Amino acid sequence: MKKKGWKKPINLSLICGYCEWCKKQLLSDAGGWIVTAKKQKFCHDGKDGSCFDKFCVMKYNQQQQEKQYATNKKR
Ligand SMILES: [Zn+2]
Repeated sequence: MKKKGWKKPINLSLICGYCEWCKKQLLSDAGGWIVTAKKQKFCHDGKDGSCFDKFCVMKYNQQQQEKQYATNKKR
């Protein structure tokens, strides 16, 4: 006898957060994303490129600019 009212379990995809870069939903079961030490989340699946890489480049450039600014200030 088959159970009545049996429903296929709903695929629970919990939204863990949003990519800091492209604001995409990051699902618990989807993978392809990472959390940084500062609890920031980024896509990191390699297919469409990685938002984390873009973020790192941006951060790096920012730091370089700040360094430049700091050295200019000293003079
Ligand atoms: Zn992203």
